Amino acid sequence: MHCPFCAAPDTRVIDSRLSGDGGQVRRRRECTECNERFTTYESAELNLPRIVKHDGSRQPFLEDKLRAGLCKALEKRPVGMEQIEASISRIKHKLLSSGEREVAARQIGDWVMEELKSLDQVAYIRFASVYLSFEDVDAFRNAIENLEPSK
Ligand SMILES: [Zn+2]
Repeated sequence: MHCPFCAAPDTRVIDSRLSGDGGQVRRRRECTECNERFTTYESAELNLPRIVKHDGSRQPFLEDKLRAGLCKALEKRPVGMEQIEASISRIKHKLLSSGEREVAARQIGDWVMEELKSLDQVAYIRFASVYLSFEDVDAFRNAIENLEPSK
């Protein structure tokens, strides 16, 4: 890459090591012209697919929005942030591994339902009642019937 100091077209890597949790490579580079040194960080670019809403509009996937939705459903429920974060990770992993460039909002909603079903049944019903919005009475009934007898 170009030298940020003198814009010479060539720099060489003098050191390369894993950084952080191993998800990044840190490189020390030296300019072959002015001999200045600088550091670059390299990490995989993972593009999350865009979300197609019910009305057909597209939005970027917003992790904070997903977190807020889960937290709202789980408000005052005995479920810790660690479990919520684990659910978010699983949903993100599904998004990334789908390989799709666009994913329907409905699909994400279904994944959230799956997560909530195993986290907390009250939260699951809360979320289902909003998400399935009672317009879809059959879907809501199915959601309730999908619940296993309480543990
Ligand atoms: Zn330079």
